[in-house]
Order: sequence, then C-alpha cells, then structure tokens
Amino acid sequence: MEFTPIAKCSVTNARVARMVLAHAETTLPTFMPVATQAAIKGLTAEQVESLGVTLILNNTYHLSLRPGVDILKEAGGAHKFEGWRHNMLTDSGGFQLVSLSKFTTITEEGALFSSPFDGEPTMLTPEESISIQHAIGADIIMQLDDVGNLLQGPRVQEAMERSIRWLDRCIQHHESSGNKDKQNLFAIVQGGLDPNLRDECLDAMLERKDRVAGYAIGGLSGGEEKDVFWKIIKQCADKLPEDRPRYAMGIGFAEDLLVCVALGIDMADCVFPTRTARFGVALTHTGPLNLRLTKHAKDFNPIDKACPCPTCRDGTSRAFINHIITHETAAAHALTIHNIIISAHFLLDTLEIVVYPEWCVNALRSVGVDLLENMDVPVVPGGGAKWEYSDAA
Ligand SMILES: [Zn+2]
Repeated sequence: MEFTPIAKCSVTNARVARMVLAHAETTLPTFMPVATQAAIKGLTAEQVESLGVTLILNNTYHLSLRPGVDILKEAGGAHKFEGWRHNMLTDSGGFQLVSLSKFTTITEEGALFSSPFDGEPTMLTPEESISIQHAIGADIIMQLDDVGNLLQGPRVQEAMERSIRWLDRCIQHHESSGNKDKQNLFAIVQGGLDPNLRDECLDAMLERKDRVAGYAIGGLSGGEEKDVFWKIIKQCADKLPEDRPRYAMGIGFAEDLLVCVALGIDMADCVFPTRTARFGVALTHTGPLNLRLTKHAKDFNPIDKACPCPTCRDGTSRAFINHIITHETAAAHALTIHNIIISAHFLLDTLEIVVYPEWCVNALRSVGVDLLENMDVPVVPGGGAKWEYSDAA
C-alpha cells in the first residue's frame, strides 16, 4: 500500500489522502458501500464503478458460506468472481458471527459457532479468518478481533486484551503467507466505551505499527450515547499515526460521517444507505425522506437539488419514485444509487440541517468549529437516531 496524506484542513483534523492499492487508487476520505453477498444489492459492478466508487466492502462470513472458499479460489478471487476491477476490503467475519448467531462462543482459540447448514460446531480462528480473506483476495483485510458483546464490565477488558493477542496471530499468519505484498492487514482498536481501555489498546497496537498497514476503530455504533461515541473516535484518531489510514467501522448516518471526517477519520462503511434505499428512504442534505408516504405523491422536486447522482441529475421526481416504489425494482435501484452518492458527499459537504443535534455541536467544538457562531439554529439534546429517522418511520 502506498498511503500519502495530501492536505489537511486548516481548522479541523479533516484530511485528504491518496491510497494506492493493488487494484486501484482511492482518494480518502471515502465511504465504502457494503456488498454483503458479493454484490451491492440491486446494482451491477459496472454501475457501481460508474458512480466513481473505487473501494467496496465484502463480508467474509457471507462469502465463506456462499459461494465458499473453494469456488472463490477456482474463480481466482472475489474480484474476478464479481467482475469488480477496483479496490475491495473484507471484514474478518467475526462481527457477523456474533451478531447473527446467538450460539457463538468466544474462546482463546477463536469463535466457536454452529454451521448454519448442518449445525456442526465450527471454529473461526484468527488464522482461518486471514486464510479465508487470502482466498477472497481483498486489497485490505481485517484482523479477527473479539468484538465482545457488552459495552461495559470485565468482558470489555478481556475482549480488548484478546484482540491484541489475536492481532499478533493474524500478523504472524499473514506474514508467513505469500500474500503479504498484495494484501494489507488492518488492526482493530477495541476497548468499548472506556477511554483507559482504549488507550491501553492503542498503545499496544501502535507498538505493532511496522507490521500493519492501517487502523480501524471497532466496537462503536452499538447504540452508545453520541457524546461518548465522538469522544472515543477523537481519542483514537488523535493518537493514531499520521501515516496510516484510519477507518471507523459501521459508521453511516449523515452527521456521523461529517463529524468523523472532521475528527480525522479517512474511511467509513455502513449498510444503512443501501438498506434504507430498499425500504424507499432517500437520504438528503436536509434529512431522510420516506418516499413511500403519500405526501410525496405530488412532489415533483428531485430527491435532492444539491445531489450530483444520475437519479437526481436526470430529474427523476419524488412523485415518480413514490408512484413506482412498491412494485418496480427500478425505484430501489434509483434510490440505492442516490444514497451511495450522497453518503460519499456527506463526507465533504455541508448539511442544511434545520436543527443541530447537541452532540454534533460538542464534537465540532473540540476541533475548532462553532456551529452556533452567528447562527440562530435550534439545538436538540441527544440527537442521533430519533432525529435521523424523523421522516423515515
Ligand atoms: Zn441523488
């Protein structure tokens, strides 16, 4: 990997960087759409490419179940299998195991789960996760981490310490393979919502800096208080090295993306923009719109006047989407395209927010931006999910 920071914001910690991987060059900051089953739902690889997306995320857990490692190896990796010419990142598979199967048990050896096909006990070890990601052939691969399943208590400390030990096993396995020069391993900082545990984890993982290509911040977006969320992101981003990309995992709401970039984050991913599109919800600069609602039946405006996506540029109206959303898959395609493009723009744009969530005001103050200076905008305490979904219910 070639990673070069190009410019830094004169006020906040936001930065622009160039990341050259085996398949393509990606300009950071970037939002990665998620291709759960080896495809961004509803779009072809060519369509995704035409949107200017150069880095997508594939789920290791899903790919390893179907089509499975053997077929991927025979196809020559997931790039060839999917017809995707640009960069790809895979997760370790661990998060899906814990979130999708209530029978997953974490031991020092790995994550023990029962196969969804035959119920047989199956173990995902750090080594096995890396081997699967080698077969997939993603440009960026993630360490297997212990995601824990509680936000507090002794389990968080255990999960953080185990994640460091598992990072060492992942590094060892990756370095002893022939894939070291083509694929780049990222470490995942854990430690829950406890700043001391985060600090301990950061120290340990920074000691391994020469053996990892980048750093991710894991264990957030689990419904924690937003003021806790941004403080952990800032703590990690401040301490992570300038010459490594910083990836905030599972972040995807408009204001979360904007705040994370201001705090120094380079990469983010979330299923939210593409998933919500399939339910008829368009993300816009002024908040989400549920285009299934009859109030949009005579609304001939584009989805978002400031959006450069093909759907908005073509003049497709909110009324038209409302008309076809329940019976034409074309509506979901059009909204998926729109939501991917606009999420990428949330990283760089100003949001025309009519009310400010208090946590956004606090987070941006920490990097020298006062949203309320010369502004008469109401501030809502908390903010976050309730505000985000105001029109999406
Ligand atoms: Zn659009």
